[in-house]
Amino acid sequence: MAETENAPGAQHFIPPQADTIDQLRAAAAGCRGCELYQDASQTVFGRGDESARVVFVGEQPGDMEDQQGLPFVGPAGRLLRRAVDDAGIDPGHIYLTNAVKHFRFELRGKRRIHQTPDRVHITACRPWLVAEFARLRPEVVVVLGATAAKALLGPTFRVTRQRGELLPWPAAAQRPEDFTRVPVDNTGKVADVPEAQLLATIHPSAVLRADNQDVAYEGLVADLRVAAAVLVA
Ligand code: SF4
Repeated sequence: MAETENAPGAQHFIPPQADTIDQLRAAAAGCRGCELYQDASQTVFGRGDESARVVFVGEQPGDMEDQQGLPFVGPAGRLLRRAVDDAGIDPGHIYLTNAVKHFRFELRGKRRIHQTPDRVHITACRPWLVAEFARLRPEVVVVLGATAAKALLGPTFRVTRQRGELLPWPAAAQRPEDFTRVPVDNTGKVADVPEAQLLATIHPSAVLRADNQDVAYEGLVADLRVAAAVLVA
């Protein structure tokens, strides 16, 4: 992975003895893998059931998540849990995380306005995601929204065209080796991401912004039912 002066990458901050999600989370609190830690309040690491068969990956924490230090705590998170439940997946047995673990924003007056992470941030933060996958070993990875989908599947992937479709993971990544050869700790150790299925859908915040929220919500639930079917198969 290319390193830059501003974004040396998260792998430098992952200790080799971090075998559990809790240990990864503790190490991520001190990550300086890119410049996003400077303005954000704290690292927002993934959370949930560590034996989850389904892992959800969003874009980055929002304002509320940044303040509380937990992913998916705002309205979008609540909507996602409802949709998961309606799709037939137990919301108590999922794991939620983001492709980028610090909140990127610009200040307008006193308001912190969400800014989409750049490729450099996604690349710098990817070792945390790979390390999470390697410890969690999910059967299904659900990618929420365009930024997370591009982070995992490459810049040409279009959620609008391929949502709700099961794809082999990590074979479906634009460069699968990005997810199997990425150093996952500061000794240069490389993780093998276990094979899973991947499904992309819209981010729950897109449902909240939709003109017709009912239709958008039903679309999200329909996509998640495809993931639920994998679990009962
Ligand atoms: S966004 Fe990711 S790589 Fe950048 S400082 Fe935060 S945790 Fe580290």
